[in-house]
Amino acid sequence: MEMNLGLRSEVQLLLDRVVAMVRDDIMPVEAEYHSEIGKGDRWAYTPRQAEILEGLKAKAKAAGLWNFWLTDSDRGLGLSTVEYAYFAEAMGKTPLGPEVFNCGAPDTGNMEVFERYGTDAMKERWLKPLLAGEIRSAYLMTEPDVASSDATNVAMSCVRDGDDYVLNGEKWWISGAGDPRCRVYITMVRTGGDDTPKHQRHSMIVVPAEASGIEVLRPMQVYGQDDAPHGHMHMRFTDVRVPAENTLLGEGRGFEIAQGRLGPGRIHHCMRAIGQAEAALELMCRRSLQREAFGKPLAQLGANYDIIAECRMEIEMARLLCLKAAWYMDQGDAKAAAPWISQIKVIAPRVALKVIDEAVQMHGGEGISQDTPLARAWTHVRTLRMADGPDAVHRRQVARAELKQYTQEKM
Ligand SMILES: Cc1cc2nc3c(=O)[nH]c(=O)nc-3n(C[C@H](O)[C@H](O)[C@H](O)COP(=O)(O)OP(=O)(O)OC[C@H]3O[C@@H](n4cnc5c(N)ncnc54)[C@H](O)[C@@H]3O)c2cc1C
Repeated sequence: MEMNLGLRSEVQLLLDRVVAMVRDDIMPVEAEYHSEIGKGDRWAYTPRQAEILEGLKAKAKAAGLWNFWLTDSDRGLGLSTVEYAYFAEAMGKTPLGPEVFNCGAPDTGNMEVFERYGTDAMKERWLKPLLAGEIRSAYLMTEPDVASSDATNVAMSCVRDGDDYVLNGEKWWISGAGDPRCRVYITMVRTGGDDTPKHQRHSMIVVPAEASGIEVLRPMQVYGQDDAPHGHMHMRFTDVRVPAENTLLGEGRGFEIAQGRLGPGRIHHCMRAIGQAEAALELMCRRSLQREAFGKPLAQLGANYDIIAECRMEIEMARLLCLKAAWYMDQGDAKAAAPWISQIKVIAPRVALKVIDEAVQMHGGEGISQDTPLARAWTHVRTLRMADGPDAVHRRQVARAELKQYTQEKM
């Protein structure tokens, strides 16, 4: 079967514009944007921060550089997942990039859910402002008291009471729930009892952030950073009441949605991680040529040539695997694509972490400081070995797919 991993020429022109905007408009203001956090309330946007972010978004939107992630929909620009990979990589080079083009996490995954499974009313109330970049959203699955890498453990209680559902329990690591613009939570809950089949016990409920009974207990810290104002929040629901029609797809169909949501979301993370690896390699190369020690540029000392070469080769391997997984997604068979997504979900963070770590090393003390984007990139990519499924769970998926052909052979 023909496997085209490239871009159509008109799409390449669009990508060139994204690359230029990341380089010329976003990267130069990134340091100033982050320096604003903590001037006053960490969980609000300072006027200057809002001006930078909204100004960039308005520019991208006016230029038609918006919502590239809508790959399988007539609302988008008609990119394939393979083509989107190039865009996500370009946007992922800088932390602000994805949001500027309305392609940030967790919103792209949540918008996919509304697009695929939402009712017309949900689309009107939530998808429309999300697509316009006017509000943000969060995805609530993980819970402090259960091993959430096995989502069948999710235990938040959800009980029918007349025309409503009543939700009780805790969630944590809820990315984006600290953002004052976050207005809606897609929440995985348990609706079925022990007599219900394991994968039909859960439902996805749309909960407005303003619903009463929701408390944000604390921001979780990522290696000591709270990632304000986005945040990863620990939250408690006490008798949170929502209309039963807020159920996505129907009671007991949470797993169908989780599978649909996590596939695209996971691969988007991988594509952006490859962008971060590229950005780190560029910084490493520039630094190794500019700085001298022992009478030579750093590049010519010790094993630094080999380190740079290894980084380049590993990025290229990861990118090809990512494109291949994207190609499988474009074939429309989610089951066939899943082991490929799992492979890249393990490999992309691993490669990006290695490259960023080598770039940190080449920068000496500066590398682990706030003066380069490298330390922040490393901590972010490190969390990807956990978020959207830990490595071990994805390796399990890969091994099961690998072994299946032989067990089937025996039968
Ligand atoms: C920065 C960050 C952002 C996040 N954002 C969100 C979010 O927005 N929404 C959300 O719902 N969740 C989010 N998460 C949570 C994340 O998805 C979970 O942490 C993850 O799914 C693992 O669940 P757990 O923490 O309960 O780990 P556990 O399930 O307790 O697993 C712990 C460890 O057990 C081991 N393990 C598990 N299964 C296997 C296996 N099959 N084989 C071998 N070893 C295994 C692995 O080493 C694993 O890391 C985020 C996490 C982080 C760190």
